[in-house]
Formats: sequence, structure tokens, C-alpha cells
Amino acid sequence: MSTAAAPERTLAYLAAVPVDRVKGIGPARAKKLAELGIQSVAELLMHAPRRYLDRSQIFDLADVPLGEEVTVGGVVSSVQRIRLRRKRQMVRATVGDGTGRITVVWFNPYVRVTEGSEVALSGKVELFRGSLQMKSPDLVTLGKEGDDALLVGRVVPVHPSAGGLGPQNLRAAIANALRRSRPIAESVPEELLRRHHLVARDAAFADIHFPESRDEAARARQRLVFDELFRLELALALRKQQQLATARGVAHAVDGALVTSFLGGLPYELTEAQERAITEIRSDLADPSPMHRLLQGEVGSGKTVVALTALLTAVSGGHQAAIMAPTEVLAVQHYLGTVALLEAAGLAPRHEAPAGAGGTSSLFGTESRSQPTHQVRIALLTASAADVNFQQGAGRADVLGWIADGGVDVVVGTHSLIQEGVEFGRLGVAVVDEQHRFGVYQRVQLREKSDGYDPDLLIMTATPIPRTLSMTLYGDLEVSLLDEMPPGRSPVQTRHVPKAGEQLRDVYELIRREASAGRQAFVVCPLVEDSDKLAAKSATTEYERLLGVFPDLRLGLLHGQMPAREKEAVMLDFRAGKLDVLVATTVIEVGIDVPNATVMLIEDADRFGLSQLHQLRGRVGRGSEPATCVLVAEPTTPEGERRIAAMVATNDGFRLAEEDLRIRGQGTVFGTRQAGLKDLKLADILRDAETLVTARREAFSLVAADPGLSRHPELAEELRMLLGDDVAWLERS
Ligand code: ADP
Ligand code: MG
Repeated sequence: MSTAAAPERTLAYLAAVPVDRVKGIGPARAKKLAELGIQSVAELLMHAPRRYLDRSQIFDLADVPLGEEVTVGGVVSSVQRIRLRRKRQMVRATVGDGTGRITVVWFNPYVRVTEGSEVALSGKVELFRGSLQMKSPDLVTLGKEGDDALLVGRVVPVHPSAGGLGPQNLRAAIANALRRSRPIAESVPEELLRRHHLVARDAAFADIHFPESRDEAARARQRLVFDELFRLELALALRKQQQLATARGVAHAVDGALVTSFLGGLPYELTEAQERAITEIRSDLADPSPMHRLLQGEVGSGKTVVALTALLTAVSGGHQAAIMAPTEVLAVQHYLGTVALLEAAGLAPRHEAPAGAGGTSSLFGTESRSQPTHQVRIALLTASAADVNFQQGAGRADVLGWIADGGVDVVVGTHSLIQEGVEFGRLGVAVVDEQHRFGVYQRVQLREKSDGYDPDLLIMTATPIPRTLSMTLYGDLEVSLLDEMPPGRSPVQTRHVPKAGEQLRDVYELIRREASAGRQAFVVCPLVEDSDKLAAKSATTEYERLLGVFPDLRLGLLHGQMPAREKEAVMLDFRAGKLDVLVATTVIEVGIDVPNATVMLIEDADRFGLSQLHQLRGRVGRGSEPATCVLVAEPTTPEGERRIAAMVATNDGFRLAEEDLRIRGQGTVFGTRQAGLKDLKLADILRDAETLVTARREAFSLVAADPGLSRHPELAEELRMLLGDDVAWLERS
């Protein structure tokens, strides 16, 4: 054998060879494979086995271990096809090897097994009614498949079926592809590989498919996982580099009196975590390059005040600022809350009585603009509402005009602020609440709103993102973490109760007791109205029913299908303590801040996702009184059960997020479009967290030393070929 003469193939080259060039893969299969993201030979080679069968040892039936993955062999002495109910079929065979006999069943009518043939069977052996049995083992008929060498007497890969190709076909196709692709060129610097004890790429591709041992397979996997994560982090590092190079940011003047008086007027002391975040943000704002920062903190950790500090910094330096919320209800809350805090600090005009002395417009005409440090002009702008804090009855057109000519300082709205045709005069800071998918595209839109420079951007999220995930998703973002709660909060007690009976009556008693002590409760249902299709509680019906349960209490109803005005009115009543119980859908999921609420009752809780449940629970426990979260559920799925158990077990959002990732899988958590997660075929960001950290460190230091990768052209080419659009801007050297 002389492979020495064969030219090395780069991964970039293999990524350009269509997969139908591989023997055994015709155009029809290639089309199906393409749907699964396998379009090229490189991608086929990255289609790693799901598991391995250890056929390096064949056991005698007389002393085969039970319950372990093993391989046994022998001659088929009988085959029966048995009809089952619902058109299903079972194939049952008996195999003997001279030391014993075993019964083998498959619930797949297409299994090809014939009497008299010699077979190898891999799977678990069990004892069933005193005799040996195997269920649906992997089957190889010896002397038939032409390539026994791949299949027997060694560790055999089982590839996940793809594009109509089963494990056996894939095994053959990949063996073929490997033969024609090797040797595969290295692109990662030698000394980096040595430092992290990584095997060569060529060996890794061979060994992940056809290892001599499980250890060898594990080392191969380790290397290829590193490659994937390294490429992803390189792309992120390069993107960050590029942003820095092309960005035109604002160097804000950060020591304005405005911020100082605002902080001085707060009714509480900042937590250390808040102080730290504010300092980090302040130094980003002072810097001429634009801020890209994620402010991450549990629900109730006090992100809003940190965000306001950033907004006011922009204002004090003569710029406008915007804060964008995910829902109208929340935008209104942010607006009212901001106005109240600024009024308390004496920094905003008060809404005076309509027929009062003075009159707003004369008070806040041109002269007020000459002293912006004392009068912060705030506007609310959503699809259905427009308001400002310096003039009553302002119309939508007025508000839009003020935003465009700089007549307002702070704009509070929904995420649609940047999508719709709102023009800003001089936007300097944008805060995005609960929008962790805020992508490159939206950043470009923001830039267009600000006269060609990049506004500083702060993204807030209460969705606890496991560190490993934030590294992959937000590799180009800085992170500030509010890891400390304001003092005096006691953790929310979480209980799981069945749908009816004494325990639920106890909960109703608790709600009544809390109400008589002047506190409030939420009741959340999965549906707005009853549905024929879903057997889940609806807010509307539950509201009617609870009117009967609590004739003595004041109940309100809130759901997304109500007109905006009505929603707002109900929310205001609840906030003002005019309602004891708010029956709602998940419209209240995010951000609602009513510290007086102490009970969160969630109906059919197993129907909600884990992060939703955690968000809902975060609506209580925001004041100094102890709070309770009640999960009413009789889970019908294992996932539902796991979610309820996790909620009862911990209040720690990060642990819940990791559990969520485990239950749902990494591809689904934030959508596959995000930052190359779709490109992860082998890596699992939880299991491979350590490798991710290493890959990130190496990638960022390599880019720091070689911006643009001109000294690593083979790596650049590989990124272009494998990550495509994500690095489309990476220039060819
Ligand atoms: P979130 O991080 O969920 O957005 P908020 O900003 O809504 O949290 O704050 C939650 C509650 O905590 C609010 O009622 C807010 O006034 C209060 N709060 C914020 N910071 C502090 C603090 N340092 N001390 C006491 N209360 C605080
Ligand atoms: Mg918030």
C-alpha cells in the first residue's frame, strides 16, 4: 500500500466535492442527504457513528454476559415471520453456535435473514423464560456483504441512518469516501494540537468511523469536536475583530450630573452586582468603539435600573436613547416605571392636573431643552400607544416628530421600534430587553437609524443562558452578570399539587389569606379560551370559575386577545392593588414587576416549557414577603414530569437552563439559525464544555495575533467553505 504518493486533500477541498461523487450515493440519495445538511464529501465524513459495536470479541453463547452490548455468531437454524396486530410483523430466528442456542426477534419485516446462513449479531442478550434472547440486534450475514473486513472481528460503527441510507450502506459509502479523500491535510497549527493532546486530523477522520478500539474512537471524536468548536469560535473572534475595525461608535461623556442625581434619587442602595455592571457599561460607553454587551440576570435581579443608567448616560452626553421591550404591556411598564423613577429623582416634569396652573407646553417649550440635565423627556411608542411625559394628549405624529428632531431624549417601545419606519435624530444607546436573538441584521438596522454610526447596544436577558451556550451564541458579546439579588428577598417556595382535591383547596386558602393581608396572586392558564383540541385550562373559563371560588375577592382577567387599552387598564388596576387575583395567560410571562404579588399559581404547568415556568415564577418573590409558586399538574409525558420535578428541585435559573438544554437538545433551544449552532454536528455544548472553553481561548488568541488570518490561509479557506454566510465577509487573501 502506498498512500505516500496520494496528494493531501484539504477539508475545504472536500467541502467542495458534491456527495454524489461517492460510490453508492446516487442523485436521489444525495438530494435527501442534502436536506440533512450533508451536501459534500466533507460533511459526509463528519457524519459520525451514533455508537460502536465491539466485534473485536465474539462470545460463545454458553458464557455470553447478559445485558451488555456483545457480539455473538452462529448458524441460523430456523426463521419465522409472524403477523402482529395493526399490520405489524415480527421476524423470529433461532441461531446456534455449537455451545448454545439463542432466539432472535426483529419487529421489522424487512430484515433479511435466511436459514442455513452464518451470521454475526450485535446487541444485548437477555434471559427470556429461561432461554437466551436478543431483540433487534444489528445483523451481518457473513460472506454475503462482500466487505466482511469492515464488519467482523473489530469495532464496527453504527451510523445514524440518513437520506434513505441505513447504517450498512453508510458504512460502505463512508469507507469509500475515506479511501478517496485521505490523506486529509492538517490546518490547525501543530503546537496548538500538541498543547491539547489532539490527534492528527487525517487519523481522526479515519478513526471516528473505523476505530481499532473504543479509546481510539474517543480520541478521534475529541479532535473533531475541537475542530468544530474552534471553527465556530474563530468565526466569532473574526466577527468581533471586524466590528471593531469598521465600527464608528460614540465616545459618550460619562460623568454627567444627570446619572449622579438619578442614582442619588433611587429609593434603595444598588447591589454590588448592579454597581459592577454599571461600571462595566460606563467604560464601554466612554470608549469610542460601540458597546455590544449582554446584561444577564435572574428575574428580579434589578436589570432595569442598570439599563436606565445607560440610557441617561447617553442623554447627558446629548444623545437619544431607546429601550425596546418584547411586549406592549412591558413597554408600558418600563415607561411608567422610568417616568416614576425620574420624577422621584426630580429629573422629569410631572404630569400636573389637566386644568392646573401653568400648562405643560409653556413649561417645557424651548427653554427646557436648554437645560437637559434636569428634564428628561420620555416618549412611549408602541403599535397602539403614543405618549410623552412632557405634554398631555400628544398624538402619534407629534411623538414621531420629536423622536426625529431630538425633541425627546428617551424612547420606550417594543422591538418593532427598529423594524418600523421610526427615525431617530441622534440615537446613542439602544437597550433591548429580553431579546437574546438580537442579531447582526438588527444591529445593521440600528446603525441605519443613527446616521451611520453604531449606537451602543445593551441586550438584557433574564433567560439564564448556560455559560457554554452564551459562549457559542454570543461569542462576540461582552457579558455583565447580575448574580446577586436585592436584599431582603426570600426564595420562592415551589409546590406541585394535583388538579383537584384538598391540596388545591389549601392553595386557595393561601390565596385568600394573602389577599386579606393586602397581597396579591397570579393564576396562569395555558389557553385564552376553551379549545376542543386541547384539554387544558383557559384563562377565560378559569376566571369565571374562580369568581365562584373567591366571591369575596376582586378578580381580573388578562390575555393577549384583549384590546391594548383594556390590557393596560387591568394591568394598572392590578399594579395599584385594586385587584387581588389576576387570572392571565403567559402575557405576564416576561418582566411584569408587581412586588406585592406573593402567589403564582400555574394551571396545567406541565404544558409550559421550563424557561417559561421559571419566568412565570419570577413574577413573585420580588418584594420582602415570602412567596409561593404552585404548579398544578398531572403530567402525561416524561418531559412534563421532568420539568415539574426540576422546578420543584431548584430556583437556580442556570441549572434549569441546563436541564432544559438536556431535555430539548441544543439545536432547538435558540433556533438553529443562530451563530453557527447548526454547524455543530459532533459537539455537544454541555458535554464538551471544557473543549469549548479551550477552543474559544485558542481561537481568540490566534485572531489577535493574526487578524484576517493571512498567516493561516488554509484555516480561512476552511471557514469560508464550512461556515459559508456566517463568514461571508472574510476576505480572500
Ligand atoms: P429584572 O432584572 O427582572 O428586570 P427589575 O429591574 O424589574 O428586575 O427589578 C425588580 C424589582 O427590584 C423592582 O421592583 C426594583 O424596583 C427592585 N430593585 C432593583 N434594584 C434594587 C435594589 N438594589 N434594592 C432593592 N430593590 C431593588
Ligand atoms: Mg426586567
